[in-house]
Amino acid sequence: MIVTRFAPSPTGYLHLGHAFAAAKAFAARGSQGDFLLRIEDIDIARCRPEFDAAIFEDLRWLGLDWETSVRRQSEHFGDYGAALKTLDAKGVLYPCFCTRKDIAEEIARASGAPHGPDGPLYPGTCRGLNAYMREARIAAGEAYALRLDIAKATAPLARSLTFEERGEGPNGEHGLQIVQPALFGDVVLARKDSLASYHLAVVVDDALQGVTLVTRGNDLFAAAYVQRLLQELLGLPAPAYAHHRLILAPDGKKFSKRDAAVTLRSLREAGHTPQDIFRQIGA
Ligand code: GLU
Repeated sequence: MIVTRFAPSPTGYLHLGHAFAAAKAFAARGSQGDFLLRIEDIDIARCRPEFDAAIFEDLRWLGLDWETSVRRQSEHFGDYGAALKTLDAKGVLYPCFCTRKDIAEEIARASGAPHGPDGPLYPGTCRGLNAYMREARIAAGEAYALRLDIAKATAPLARSLTFEERGEGPNGEHGLQIVQPALFGDVVLARKDSLASYHLAVVVDDALQGVTLVTRGNDLFAAAYVQRLLQELLGLPAPAYAHHRLILAPDGKKFSKRDAAVTLRSLREAGHTPQDIFRQIGA
C-alpha cells in the first residue's frame, strides 16, 4: 500500500506550486493508498495561524481529501529529541556556537570554500573544539546548534547508500540513485532556536507516519541524500521518492510570498474553480 504526504509550512498562503505538489501526492497514492497531510511548523517564528487555517481551507476547496490524522511538527519535539539522542550516542553530533556572521567571515577568509546545493558549506569551525571547550561554552549559556559530523557519520558505512527515484530529479534522474551524503557538509540537525531542523523532522515524521513514497518538488531532490543518511543512522525504513517539476512564476523563478496573485485564495476570490487551477498547472 502506498502512503504519500503533502507537507506544507504555514509561512504563507498556498499558491499554484503547492496545488501542483498536493495534487501529485494525492494522485500518487493510487486507488488503495493513503494521502497524509503534515504541517511543517517547527520554525515557530515564521509560522502564522491564519496560514495554517488556510492550508485546510484551500486543500478542501481543491477537493484533495487527506487522512484525518494530521501531524503537526510543533507538537512532536519529543520525537525529534529522541532521534538526536540516538545520533548523539553514535558520536556523530557536535555543538556549533557560530553565528551566521562568524560563518560568513570564516568562509570569506578561506578562499575557494566548497559549495553545496544550499550555498557554501559550513567551514567546520566548531568541529574541532575539544570536550572541555564545548562544555565550558554550554555551561556559560552560549546558544548552540547541533551539527552532523558528516565524515564521522559516513565513515562506518560499508557500502554506498541508494534510494529509489520514481519521478524525476532536476536532471531527469530516475531509478536507483547513489547517495552523495557529504554534498551538504555538516548539516544542522537542531537549530539554536528550535530543537529540530527540517532534515531531522522530515526523516522522523516520514518514518512515524509510515510514508512509503515521498512526493515533492525536485528542488528537494538533493535533500534526499542527507535524509537517506539520517534514515540509515537512525535505523528507519527508506521510503521511495517521486520528485516532480516545479511550477514556476512567469519570470522562471520560484513563486514567492510576494506573488499574491497566484495564491489559491486570491484565484478563488477572482472566480477560478478548482478545475481551472488543475488545468492551469497541468495536474
Ligand atoms: N515543508 C517543505 C516545503 O514546504 C516540504 C518538505 C518535504 O516535502 O520534504 O517545501
